[in-house]
Amino acid sequence: MSGVSRPAVLVLGGTTEGREVAAALAARDDVRPITSLAGRLSRPGAVAGAVRTGGFGGADELARWIAEHEVRAVVDATHPFAAGISANAARACVAADVPLVALRRPGWKPAPGDDWRPATDLDDAAALVSGLGRRALLAIGRQEVATFAGVDDVWFLLRAIDPPDPPLPPHHELLLARGPFALDDERALLREHAIDVVVTKDSGGDATRAKLDAARELGLPVLMVRRPSAPEGPGITTVASTDAAVETVVAVTASGSA
Ligand code: NAP
Repeated sequence: MSGVSRPAVLVLGGTTEGREVAAALAARDDVRPITSLAGRLSRPGAVAGAVRTGGFGGADELARWIAEHEVRAVVDATHPFAAGISANAARACVAADVPLVALRRPGWKPAPGDDWRPATDLDDAAALVSGLGRRALLAIGRQEVATFAGVDDVWFLLRAIDPPDPPLPPHHELLLARGPFALDDERALLREHAIDVVVTKDSGGDATRAKLDAARELGLPVLMVRRPSAPEGPGITTVASTDAAVETVVAVTASGSA
């Protein structure tokens, strides 16, 4: 098969895994990936295959887009905290009657010596952080930093790829950086800024894991924000790796065209 006759697979991306799935599918001759990005980053990384950018306008519009573009399967490779688009993808795939492969990267597991404190969500983390330290590395991305705007008794090192949206916490320094981050650098960063607590989402993956290892080495507590629940149901196949996502989507696409 070649060209536009190859069945289209919509890859909901914005993650390392999304890029990996797109690259693997683009290298094949039996499927054709179209990656969808939300358009949040000023300089998104390169993606193999076709790319479309921006919200669809909700689940119904996503279902319409899937039908109009003759998409034969969808891979939800979005971030574990991108709960809105994952819920929309689940609804849209039912409405459009196409299979959904949900790639859920596993959460992080504490190792001996880790001092992790759970937070149910970011509001909970904002309420808890001043009980744990006075100088926090806030590594939660750009979009929800405003949740910490009312915390006036903690100094924050705000690390994100692009500048966060205001309002920001009154005492902070902004560090623009894109992972992956190495252990030596993370250790040095925590020391240099005299960080005494790390705040992070339970994103999982290797690219941003080193801050947890550095915190353990330095004996620092980590405020770990729990993941939102992910949609499940008929028509959704949940996998934990990019290889499994590619294998599954190729199989369902092939069986649909048989
Ligand atoms: P979200 O809250 O789940 O989604 C909000 C809305 O943004 C969705 O309803 C959808 O708009 C649009 N959207 C989100 N992802 C999209 C995509 N891949 N393609 C097209 N539209 C998308 O999403 P979010 O947490 O803001 O994440 C946005 C993007 O950043 C995702 O691609 C995600 O993988 C990536 N990301 C998120 C995080 C995080 O911590 N949340 C971290 C790293 C990367 P419509 O309803 O109009 O379709």
